[in-house]
Amino acid sequence: MADAPTARRTLVLASGNAGKLSELSAMLEPLGWRVRPQGEWRIDEAVEDGLSFIENAVIKARHAVRCTGLPALGDDSGLVVDALGGEPGIYSSRYAGEAADDEANNAKLLQALAGVQREARGAHFYCAMALMRHANDPAPLLATGRWRGRILDAPSGSGGFGYDPLFWVPEQRCSSAQLPAALKNRLSHRGQALAAMLRHIENAFETGG
Ligand code: IMP
Repeated sequence: MADAPTARRTLVLASGNAGKLSELSAMLEPLGWRVRPQGEWRIDEAVEDGLSFIENAVIKARHAVRCTGLPALGDDSGLVVDALGGEPGIYSSRYAGEAADDEANNAKLLQALAGVQREARGAHFYCAMALMRHANDPAPLLATGRWRGRILDAPSGSGGFGYDPLFWVPEQRCSSAQLPAALKNRLSHRGQALAAMLRHIENAFETGG
């Protein structure tokens, strides 16, 4: 049965990341959505065995919708470095090993790019999002974002997380670790994907599509 126009609808976020939850809630709540993290259902993490960001986003969303019976949003993101054939890519969070922290991953990235000239240090952050309306949804809503920059020779700035201290943002003339959080959220791969997903959600759910 279709939702009444004024009913609050629930979307499950297939992630335990508190930052992502508050960002998504802030954008969707004014539109009448309640966003709940999948942790509320005590679900195990999905096995992320896709070979691309979009595959992993779909895997996460499908797992959450199957376990909760509610529409679910999955996302996957990472850093894609031109000179490294796209590495670390989908392995960004564990580039330097399963238990690696941001510092170890950044150190490995600098090592991998040692001797690579400035012009050849291009890279982008990429984010894929998938929203599945039911467990067998054959046409998930998909959105992606891409944020171009360059990998620095040494870390700069203390904000953000992950590879931010090494990611130079040319149009802002600073690293992404030096950007105010609100500006980063607007410019970033995740911000772009989220804005596109929001438009899809408005269209799909308003028209029942
Ligand atoms: P996730 O899929 O959003 O959890 O991101 C996976 C990994 O990609 C993170 O652990 C970071 O290493 C890297 N990453 C994704 N987004 C960002 C970002 O905005 N800044 C820095 N690193 C990021």
